[in-house]
Amino acid sequence: MNALAPLSGLANGARDAVPVIQERGQREVFCGLTGIVWLHRKIQDAFFLVVGSRTCAHLIQSAAGVMIFAEPRFATAILEDRDLAGVADIDDELDAVVDRLLARRPEIKLLFLVGSCPSEVIKIDLSRAAARQSRQHAPRVRILSYSGSGIETTFTQGEDACLAALVPTLPPEPENVSQSLLVVGALADIVEDQFARLFDVLGVAPVRFLPMRRAADLPPVGPSTSFLLAQPFLADTAHALQERGARWIEAPFPLGAEGTTLWLRAAAKAFGVSEARFDAVTSPARARAEQALAHYRDALAGKRVFLFPDSQLEPALARFLAREMAMRIVEIGTPYLHRRHMAAELDLLPKDAPIVEGQHVEKQLDRCRAAHPDLVVCGLGLANPLEAEGFATKWSIELLFSPIQGYDQAGDLAELFARPLNRRARLEV
Ligand code: SF4
Repeated sequence: MNALAPLSGLANGARDAVPVIQERGQREVFCGLTGIVWLHRKIQDAFFLVVGSRTCAHLIQSAAGVMIFAEPRFATAILEDRDLAGVADIDDELDAVVDRLLARRPEIKLLFLVGSCPSEVIKIDLSRAAARQSRQHAPRVRILSYSGSGIETTFTQGEDACLAALVPTLPPEPENVSQSLLVVGALADIVEDQFARLFDVLGVAPVRFLPMRRAADLPPVGPSTSFLLAQPFLADTAHALQERGARWIEAPFPLGAEGTTLWLRAAAKAFGVSEARFDAVTSPARARAEQALAHYRDALAGKRVFLFPDSQLEPALARFLAREMAMRIVEIGTPYLHRRHMAAELDLLPKDAPIVEGQHVEKQLDRCRAAHPDLVVCGLGLANPLEAEGFATKWSIELLFSPIQGYDQAGDLAELFARPLNRRARLEV
């Protein structure tokens, strides 16, 4: 494995000194299957076949319930009692399901077999199944596997597992390419297009995105690839890319005007773009973003926000809310804290904002109630009871489904937090 890129700014010791409270106990999070809801929209000719129970099928259906497709691009191969009891030959049954699916849906070019809690409990070897089925259906369809199980994971880790499964299949970067940029993490197409245009004007090229929109457009990777994380929950994917020789560009995440500027600047710097050129290219969009943010500052400034652990976006969101919207941070919960990927964010966070990694939901609810924040960012399971107790809440999963990265989305991001406060203010009139 190649070494991680050196850290800039604070010395390692100072970053490691950021106090993080560890908490263990009952958790309230969705599982990794949830990622299918945004990933199937991103890779337009992929199909996600969950090998799981009726519970898994219901989760996916209800998480994606807002979208009704005549031919959805995800389904569940439901494990019945006789599968769980070991009576049936699961390999044969799964092969038959895949054969029927691919015969009926010739447009599928990439099939993911997605593991679940039940498939892991009865130890179905989905990587072996994927290899076997790939041999049978190549070259028309590529078949990969990953786990979306909810055991000891959180919902954004489904995307990490999916992208990490893709990395070994990426072609090598051609030797005549001296440097390329890979942007890693699912972004809405509109956001991806905006970033692609900005990189183009900056002269950063070639730029590619993972996940790709079409199964055939696998981005190449190799020692001349530098990659920039667009999402903070991609530890395994980053590790797999580093195994392929790619170099990580350290940066905060592109949330808000400041985050977007620092994220773009890190890439520009790695590609030798001068500060003057960077400022000339980004200033107009940055000014637009700052103007959009100013519109929401009165509603948010001085308000106290408590973030429950859910998506792993929490430290980056807290940085945006504290620094750009002048909110006061009561607590930053995060299911996992990847200290190196989060180092640039930790540098920017208010020093008095407590960071809690992991969850003991009852203790955390007690702290939240005692602090009585103006706004609580949390998962769906906590939002309804907290609303009933009089708290304004924001569903953290909405931050995954909405385009929030980049300059042109900065105002929308602020609005997502201002809206519940406005709604509650109206209810209280
Ligand atoms: Fe539930 Fe596990 Fe299925 Fe997720 S993968 S829906 S946590 S059984």
